[in-house]
Amino acid sequence: MSEFEMTRTIRYTSEPGKVDSMRCEVCGAVCQVRRDVETYSGMIAAMAKKTSRLDVFTCPHQETDWHNLAVRLVDAIDETPSRRLAALMHLDLEDVLIGSGVEGVSVQERRDE
Ligand SMILES: [Zn+2]
Repeated sequence: MSEFEMTRTIRYTSEPGKVDSMRCEVCGAVCQVRRDVETYSGMIAAMAKKTSRLDVFTCPHQETDWHNLAVRLVDAIDETPSRRLAALMHLDLEDVLIGSGVEGVSVQERRDE
């Protein structure tokens, strides 16, 4: 089963030239960008095999183990209905991001009160 497990890709698209830079929603790193490429805008366009000229932004860290773990935590935080569990998993996420030792990754701000 794990053979077919796919890590969610951090990939954003925009109309060519519209967006200067983007940050990864998971780790906060500035994304790498490829300008004006013929590609799919998203899952639906890919299934319809409909391409367009787009700027494509991807996270430079998304191939790393720590980033995969961070993505899974972010998804789990999104999915859990429990605020307490979400807060705990957010602590784990901070550990992963801080532990990565990569400069430029930012831990999203949390409100404790
Ligand atoms: Zn990232």
